[in-house]
Amino acid sequence: MYNSIDVPLFITIEKEALFNVKRILEKANLFINNPVIVTDKGKSYDYAKIVGKRLKIKKDRYIFVNDNTYEEVKRVERFARSLKSDFIIGIGGGKSLDIGKFASFRYGGYFLSVPTLPSHDGIASPVASIIIDGKRMSVGASMPVGIIVDINVIKNSPKRFIYSGIMDLVSNISAISDWELAYRKGYEIKYNGFSKAIAFSASESVLNYDDKNIYKDEFIKILLNGLVLSGIAMEIAGSSRPASGAEHNFSHAYDLLYPDNQFLHGEKVGVGHLLVSFLRDRNEYKKIFSCFKSFKILEELKNVFQKEDRIFESLKKAKEIRKDRYSFLNEVTFDEKTFRSVVKRVKKDIFSF
Ligand SMILES: [Zn+2]
Repeated sequence: MYNSIDVPLFITIEKEALFNVKRILEKANLFINNPVIVTDKGKSYDYAKIVGKRLKIKKDRYIFVNDNTYEEVKRVERFARSLKSDFIIGIGGGKSLDIGKFASFRYGGYFLSVPTLPSHDGIASPVASIIIDGKRMSVGASMPVGIIVDINVIKNSPKRFIYSGIMDLVSNISAISDWELAYRKGYEIKYNGFSKAIAFSASESVLNYDDKNIYKDEFIKILLNGLVLSGIAMEIAGSSRPASGAEHNFSHAYDLLYPDNQFLHGEKVGVGHLLVSFLRDRNEYKKIFSCFKSFKILEELKNVFQKEDRIFESLKKAKEIRKDRYSFLNEVTFDEKTFRSVVKRVKKDIFSF
């Protein structure tokens, strides 16, 4: 069977990368004639202006997005079409990248990803998170032709966003386990060992990193590399399977039940991962728990556990939220008492530090 795989031409993670964007693109043999910049009105705009100035992009080629909605995608697509643009450059955290890569997928242009936050593995994935008719959906999108990360920009992100990226990356361990299970049981027909190896080693690079100082250049490179590799693993697999299993179902369930929550994607995924691994494999639980502890992430997770009932309801809902995504939770008989006691036990562990 032949799979068409789209991988980025280059990944550059270095200090001052934004100021050197012209040199980076030239070195990669990428010559952009007619770009548009997708960004937002927040801090990302300051970063976008640095890139825009270096590439001599006029102000009327900037478009600012407000949220992750389908309407915004169509607006960006119309904008790129009207300017006959050959490149969409997404500069920002989640929404500018999601909208940029989905708009360029629909439009057929190239996409360049310039993440300013390290909080999730959507930096270079073929999947965009878009709100369609009020519902958050994962839709197929363009892989970026290149990824440019400025270490100094990532260093400016609040630690919460770095924690979120760590938890999203570490969750590959859980996702892979669910993918293998679903394949073994015949609920998933596609399985790719190469994709698994990439997703797994991306996770392990963070899990096994000894120095837990998250603001070190070396760590930021490892984390960002890992997040990009996760996206590539999804592209090779032809689905988000290597990076999304029961722990992501928990996060999706939480968002569905409590759409106004302000927690980051990785925070909900991290909590889901602790709960699922507690039920599935205590060794995995211990490994994840001690990783979160040594990165000092547990303190942050206490906020998510303030509303214990929401955790319980989301765990219950996670079992049925994606019928097409068979996971370990499908094998657990729902028993209110057990699930409540798991939530309480994990909460107790977290609050004891
Ligand atoms: Zn994720």
